Amino acid sequence: MKYDVIIVGAGPGGIFAAYELMQLRPDMKVAVFEAGHALDKRHCPIDGEKIKSCIGCKSCSIMSGFGGAGAFSDGKYNITNDFGGTLYEYIGKKRALELMHYVDDINLRFGGEGTKLYSTAGTRFKTICIQNDLHLLDASVRHLGTDINYVVLENLYAYLKDKVEFFFDTPVLSVAIVDDGYELTCKHATYHCTDCIISVGRIGSKWMESVCKDLDISTESSRVDIGVRVELPAAVFAHLTDELYESKIVYRTEKYGDRVRTFCMNPKGAVVNENTNGIITVNGHSYEDPVKQTDNTNFALLVAKHFSEPFKDSNGYGESIARLSNMLGGGVIVQRFGDLIRGRRSTPNRIEEAFITPTLNATPGDLSLVLPKRILDGIIEMIYALDKVAPGTANEDTLLYGVEVKFYNMEVEVDENLESRHKGLYIIGDGSGITHSLSHASASGVHVARNITK
Ligand SMILES: Cc1cc2nc3c(=O)[nH]c(=O)nc-3n(C[C@H](O)[C@H](O)[C@H](O)COP(=O)(O)OP(=O)(O)OC[C@H]3O[C@@H](n4cnc5c(N)ncnc54)[C@H](O)[C@@H]3O)c2cc1C
Repeated sequence: MKYDVIIVGAGPGGIFAAYELMQLRPDMKVAVFEAGHALDKRHCPIDGEKIKSCIGCKSCSIMSGFGGAGAFSDGKYNITNDFGGTLYEYIGKKRALELMHYVDDINLRFGGEGTKLYSTAGTRFKTICIQNDLHLLDASVRHLGTDINYVVLENLYAYLKDKVEFFFDTPVLSVAIVDDGYELTCKHATYHCTDCIISVGRIGSKWMESVCKDLDISTESSRVDIGVRVELPAAVFAHLTDELYESKIVYRTEKYGDRVRTFCMNPKGAVVNENTNGIITVNGHSYEDPVKQTDNTNFALLVAKHFSEPFKDSNGYGESIARLSNMLGGGVIVQRFGDLIRGRRSTPNRIEEAFITPTLNATPGDLSLVLPKRILDGIIEMIYALDKVAPGTANEDTLLYGVEVKFYNMEVEVDENLESRHKGLYIIGDGSGITHSLSHASASGVHVARNITK
């Protein structure tokens, strides 16, 4: 079967590439191959009652399927070059921002109208943060919320399904270069295309690595972010989240000069498990619908670890730490800040007696047995620093879930068109290592579609 373009992966990168191709060249024959299920078939079996933790489904509905890793996410589209990826290094800051705004417009047209756009422009918190040795990064954030994000995806699928051929539950096993383009092999058939867009996200990182090896494409991997997810009463951060929704705050530790940052803030949200290649880590989300909101706010505190020669496997390092927490806690560990400072583990009793109700059923334990001292020291310092701008952060009962690991895909060598050294083979989204967010991944999809149709 021969297509003009085959897209591998139906996450935001793949979806927006397909959307833009159909806008510019509706005559093109385009297929999308997705290892996971169609959107309406995506269900994580964890219900908190019968099934309390990950049972390792063949295809993880949280990370895979139409919508990609973003389908059940909080749907925070950060319009900024300050974080979320380094797309601007390839296509320029102005173009990157333009594309993120373009994606935002599409999201609004496909069901996101009425959702709020928050902005750090002119906020007084910038000054308050600086006065306390904290640095607030600039961004506009469109918060769709998990529920509206899903509606937008439903509408995008309804729009695309008759224009583009979707193959769900069909992982692409290999990509080979042939005379007139590329040959993609799946379990039961092979498919041909002139141009191929690979957008396999974080879950496809190992597969991406093997494709790069087979096709002799250079890669580099040197970074992983490790930390905890903090959960506290929503009131503690309400003055920040009401105005900014998400604040990305960076702190440089006194002890080691390491940078610790807040990441993925979910006002009135819930802490959730995340499964990356069978390793259980922690994440968070929140809902736009007030009925589904909780009394807690959660966010990650992450420390970036950069490695230099001879060590190359930064993700392997992060995985080993996450495995250690899985070994000790059977999954994610939760500890009260007060217990951590006293050097004792949290127990089910201590968690129960706290003045906050955890939103994730995690195993009470001791994070100091899991996290390297340098990382843990940095996190503790940052909690005390945040306590100055949001009093109550360093409360005894503040919950710390661990570990949260932000894996970075190895960075794949591509040019300003996001094209690899093989003509017509594009690598985009989180799978390229260039983007780490919904907005950047989506923008990269639009960018390649425009280049292909040029
Ligand atoms: C719980 C959670 C919450 C998040 N919240 C936010 C947020 O609020 N804001 C934000 O900016 N980012 C958030 N993120 C990150 C965001 O989801 C990703 O940055 C984004 O989805 C990346 O898009 P992508 O298209 O590059 O890859 P993905 O969304 O990961 O999609 C890749 C797709 O490719 C498929 N695939 C992989 N290998 C193959 C193969 N061999 N053959 C066929 N298909 C394959 C996968 O099944 C997957 O569906 C969150 C992530 C998680 C897990």
